[in-house]
Amino acid sequence: MKASRFLVSTLKEAPADAEVASHRLMTRAGMVKKLGAGIYTYMPMGLRVIRKVEAIVREEMNRAGAIELTMPVVQPAELWQETGRFDKMGPELLRIKDRHERDFVVQPTSEEVVTDIARQEIRSYKQLPKNFYQIQTKFRDERRPRFGLMRGREFIMKDAYSFDRDMASAKASYQVMAQAYRAAFDRFGLRYRAVAADSGAIGGDLSEEFQVIAATGEDAIVYCPDSDYAANMEKAEALAPAGARPAAAAALTKTPTPGKATCADVAELLGVPLATTVKSLVLATDLLDEAGNIKGAQVWLLLLRGDHDMNEVKVGKLPGLEGGYRFATLAEIEEHFGCKPGYLGPLNLKKPVKLVADREVAVMADWICGANEPDFHITGVNWGRDLPEPELVADLRNVVAGDPSPDGKGVLAIERGIEVGHVFYLGTKYSKAMNATFLEEDGKPRFLEMGCYGIGITRLPAAAIEQNHDERGIIWPDAIAPFTVVLCPIGMDRSEAVKAEAERLYAQLLAAGVDVILDDRNERPGAMFADWELIGVPHRLTIGDKGLKDGVLEYQHRRDAAATKVPAAEAFSFLQ
Ligand code: ATP
Ligand code: MG
Ligand code: MG
Ligand code: MG
Repeated sequence: MKASRFLVSTLKEAPADAEVASHRLMTRAGMVKKLGAGIYTYMPMGLRVIRKVEAIVREEMNRAGAIELTMPVVQPAELWQETGRFDKMGPELLRIKDRHERDFVVQPTSEEVVTDIARQEIRSYKQLPKNFYQIQTKFRDERRPRFGLMRGREFIMKDAYSFDRDMASAKASYQVMAQAYRAAFDRFGLRYRAVAADSGAIGGDLSEEFQVIAATGEDAIVYCPDSDYAANMEKAEALAPAGARPAAAAALTKTPTPGKATCADVAELLGVPLATTVKSLVLATDLLDEAGNIKGAQVWLLLLRGDHDMNEVKVGKLPGLEGGYRFATLAEIEEHFGCKPGYLGPLNLKKPVKLVADREVAVMADWICGANEPDFHITGVNWGRDLPEPELVADLRNVVAGDPSPDGKGVLAIERGIEVGHVFYLGTKYSKAMNATFLEEDGKPRFLEMGCYGIGITRLPAAAIEQNHDERGIIWPDAIAPFTVVLCPIGMDRSEAVKAEAERLYAQLLAAGVDVILDDRNERPGAMFADWELIGVPHRLTIGDKGLKDGVLEYQHRRDAAATKVPAAEAFSFLQ
């Protein structure tokens, strides 16, 4: 590729709504362009990365024996009614109507359609096992689309679905997928952890998330540095004995900070018995005027139960603040303050909190608040005195760093991760709901045993950037870089020697199958280097008159502090 023909479109400024590095850098590097909240065009530079991610995933899926198909993005509601998800799934499911007023959904995932295919195609145990996958557009009407491609509404997912004759074979299929995921994630060149995740109603241990390690990750992952134990916070909490806390955390929660409530307070506030699991705990901090501007801040403790409806929720002021508790509906708040209550943070607190009598809740630092609409948020909201490390928001949980590891092999550590993949044993949940059976060897019909396996194709590049960037821009791992090598000739329009050497190397690299871009735009060196450092191409060769006189070029890896001189004759082999 020659840069003059490609679209190199970099920006000096990041968009105002970009809160994390990946969103800022992908926008500035011209990789994505926002069309609406959580809806992005994958620009040519970004699409190259996405295609490389897809290629790796496709290869590993094929290698593992999965077979590719493409299912419709727009799916008839009837199938979703069979499993009950048309009604049960919340507003994340985008429902649309056609001209005949028939209901459809835009696929957020495809269990229904693939089960429908399986019940038609798979008649006999002889056809099993089977694993179907697609790499396709998904739509989830996320409550808070944010962080660019990280949490989009429209995004690309690889979703695979395994079908087996019995549980043992389904578990083997699951392991094959988990292994394929490890192979793919190893190839991406990222630091990641496969962590046990909650398999919900199905139970058992057959759900793992593939978490890319990054400080900005939305998920907390719990692991033991001295053993193989690793789980997401939800799972770790489900295993932890309620209320079992190490001394360090206890000391923290006992600091008398205004605004703290005990779990008993919370239970009373909610009117629920202790040991109830609260789905989210939210601090409302801002109030909006008619135009949606933040008008003032109020601290409220708002607790949503699993079955909450935003309009009917109970709101109470925290104890320790003047006035004590006060209950109100959101409508009452609006009336009382004469303006709409702001969006309530942190709504990303999706970990259930178990109410335990002697524990305190509500240690708050670096919360995210903002208006009840996308792209209007403030970060770093702190509340309380003697605030602990922001990490200790984890104090709302039953599991904290320093707890003993469940395997007894050491103590737990907590780090942040980005969920990029998820493997899940489903059992017969969907096959029963949709009557998807096959004939066993004994001639009797059985329900198909299923598993489902997702990878966030467009989330992966964002996660890669969160893990690999510096103040100048992105640093791509070779495997998913938009280009592996950039050739930067200095003064190509003036120097025949530079032009000839650049063209020679370019042709040689192309012929060897290297993904190379020749920057023939005749930009000044400073601007040219800044572009490629922002875009994050891992290998750069600079070709200049001065060096050529001595028979050398300059090589610099994106992580290197300075360039190294390489003999021109060896430059090619240097890049191999
Ligand atoms: P999250 O917890 O981040 O909301 P999820 O658990 O709802 O993700 P899954 O249903 O497990 O997601 O989907 C499989 C994969 O799809 C996820 O592991 C993630 O990588 C990706 N994914 C899910 N939601 C989004 C999104 N809104 N934008 C981009 N990728 C997503
Ligand atoms: Mg989700
Ligand atoms: Mg998840
Ligand atoms: Mg998941």
